[in-house]
Amino acid sequence: MAGHDVAVIGTKARCPDVLSVRFERPEGYRFVAGQYLALTLQTAEGAQTKPFSHSSAVGDSYLEITTRLSGSAFKNTLAALRSGDRVWIAGPAGRLTLPPDERRVAFLVGGVGITPVISMLRSWDPATAPEAVLFYGNREPECIPFVHEIAALEGERLTVVHVVESSAGSWEGERGLITPDIVRRYVDPADGWLFIVAGPPVMVSAMEACLVALEVPASRALIERFGPPV
Ligand SMILES: Cc1cc2nc3c(=O)[nH]c(=O)nc-3n(C[C@H](O)[C@H](O)[C@H](O)COP(=O)(O)OP(=O)(O)OC[C@H]3O[C@@H](n4cnc5c(N)ncnc54)[C@H](O)[C@@H]3O)c2cc1C
Repeated sequence: MAGHDVAVIGTKARCPDVLSVRFERPEGYRFVAGQYLALTLQTAEGAQTKPFSHSSAVGDSYLEITTRLSGSAFKNTLAALRSGDRVWIAGPAGRLTLPPDERRVAFLVGGVGITPVISMLRSWDPATAPEAVLFYGNREPECIPFVHEIAALEGERLTVVHVVESSAGSWEGERGLITPDIVRRYVDPADGWLFIVAGPPVMVSAMEACLVALEVPASRALIERFGPPV
């Protein structure tokens, strides 16, 4: 992976604890939607490097990552970045990319697992985009990263199924966790769908069990686990 010293060009809060950070895009830096970059920060605990999927589109003039702030030394440093600060990135890398000629894609994602997916959705040419269903799990309706961008992309080619774990008020979408029953209501797994799964390890493990229950063969699933197996 080629490394680059880049400037921060801005931050954007997606929810109280979900932050996007934008960096200048090095000349010649090309990535495929779904890939990630490695970000190195000088934290209070020394230099640390962590992978983050690009959440920007392949054609954007900047690079963007999006993360949940956790209180770790790395995330505290990330949250304190200001425009003009310089950081080290290396990339791109990763194989969570849509194979050419896939015509039907079902995304099973939770929380910040949306990052590689929003990059794909933002990058697709509407004229050639596959038919897609996004199953998007979040804890509460009040914090759904990129909810407005996703709503703007929803249409003939993209169906969005929000699934929230808990809702104090009225909520018209699905409730609980993404389950095989919910998936079957929108998608026939035997009908040529490619399943793309991304998110924190606990969520990915749950989605792997969901794919087994749906009898999706391993060859029809692409999986990105945002951390070590649980
Ligand atoms: C291919 C790939 C792509 C990825 N893409 C993304 C992405 O797009 N977005 C994203 O957010 N992540 C992504 N990740 C995961 C990311 O690299 C980090 O591992 C993850 O965000 C957790 O980092 P952390 O610093 O919050 O927690 P870690 O330091 O890894 O610690 C784990 C947990 O411990 C707790 N913790 C640690 N230190 C403290 C502290 N000092 N005080 C309180 N609590 C603490 C936090 O709850 C934290 O969540 C990706 C991972 C991979 C492998």
